[in-house]
Amino acid sequence: MDFLPIFLRLRGQRCVIVGGGHVAERKLMLLQRAGATTTVIAPQVTAELEQLAAAGTIELIRREFTASDVIGATLVIAATDLPALNDAGNAPVLARMLRAKLESMIPQAYGELASLLGGLREKVRQTIPGMIARRRFWESAVDSAAAEFLFAGRRAAAVAAIERMLDGVAQARPPAGEVFLIGTGPGDPDLLTFRALRLMQSADVIVYDRLVSDAIIDLCRRDAERIFVGKSSSHHALSQTAINQLLITLARAGKRAARLKGGDPFVFGRGGEEIADLASAGIDFQIVPGITAALGCAAYAGIPLTHRDYAHSCVFITGHQRDDGVAPNWAGLVQPRQTLVIYMGAANLPIICAELLAHGMRGSMPAAIIEQGTTAAQRVIAGSVASIAADAAAAGCKPPLLVIIGEVVRLREHLQWFERTVSPQ
Ligand code: SAH
Repeated sequence: MDFLPIFLRLRGQRCVIVGGGHVAERKLMLLQRAGATTTVIAPQVTAELEQLAAAGTIELIRREFTASDVIGATLVIAATDLPALNDAGNAPVLARMLRAKLESMIPQAYGELASLLGGLREKVRQTIPGMIARRRFWESAVDSAAAEFLFAGRRAAAVAAIERMLDGVAQARPPAGEVFLIGTGPGDPDLLTFRALRLMQSADVIVYDRLVSDAIIDLCRRDAERIFVGKSSSHHALSQTAINQLLITLARAGKRAARLKGGDPFVFGRGGEEIADLASAGIDFQIVPGITAALGCAAYAGIPLTHRDYAHSCVFITGHQRDDGVAPNWAGLVQPRQTLVIYMGAANLPIICAELLAHGMRGSMPAAIIEQGTTAAQRVIAGSVASIAADAAAAGCKPPLLVIIGEVVRLREHLQWFERTVSPQ
């Protein structure tokens, strides 16, 4: 049943989780989001579950599971590390009912694939010891030549192909871990790439920070472990070195870790540093580009970054001064027909504008601030380079915000479209 896509309305329904470990915690999180009333049954439970029971959020029954515990429950989830118990909790009647329903909705061959794979469960369990490796086997089996044979009505060829796959896995070394460095775009989940989404849904662990929205985290594989590594305003954030080390440790444990980055990992994302450490440690990795804030915000604000008449170049800079005090080349930034995009400019905006003016930019040069670009909360404040710092302060602008300076900002008057379709919250 590894890939059964069920949609159950659980609000107010009684559900049972058998098991009291971290897997149980994750399942509980999902049930709670769906509004279920949950009973956890296990002789021992984690401190977190203890607390939830003490607070009355869940009912906790501290003993071994017995068959009668399933009576009256809409859903029973086996989340123990005892295979026999997990099997007993599999609610075979419900499973059979759902299978019948699904089979009536989807092509017949999928039912056959389910039965073929179902018949292999025990063999797969014996051949492939680790849970992660087993899941990967099932994932590849569903998407394999074997499945294609079956869909073409060639059952014997399908069985042979799947047994060859199983032999292959049995002889292979344990799965190697891998890190996916994924750019998730500026906020709107629709701006993810297909590849980002595919890897987010196959990762065992998700490592993310504050620039990645909940809506995007929700698209990751639901039972993947989630590790939060950064908060803007507190000192709880892991250092860059600690994050790099965490990724290495996860990969060495055979996990596929998705490191999610706002925007693009290689644009002010420190992706280069994370990858350098992985490369030195000999860890496999993939890099998935994302839509960087400049591109996302420009499009959603109706500001073209280049234009045949107004801008022939575009420069992305950071407004955050380095500790070593290396000053930007202000004169180089003040060029005709050039658009300037400033990341992380919120704190230093008055200084940046003053420097640009001091280096010859005219005060009436159009400038815009895009706050929380591409999200439903997007705000755009337009003004001039002379006024924009004060405009931002007056409007109470807060990060994340992006500053765009150049003649192209004026085009927004005609090209703005997003605020017309989405009203700010
Ligand atoms: N790698 C990211 C940038 C990280 S630096 C990227 O490619 O976009 C963080 C800065 O990005 C913020 O300070 C802000 O200037 C900008 N930013 C990121 N998301 C944004 C958004 N939704 N709206 C406005 N600015 C954003």
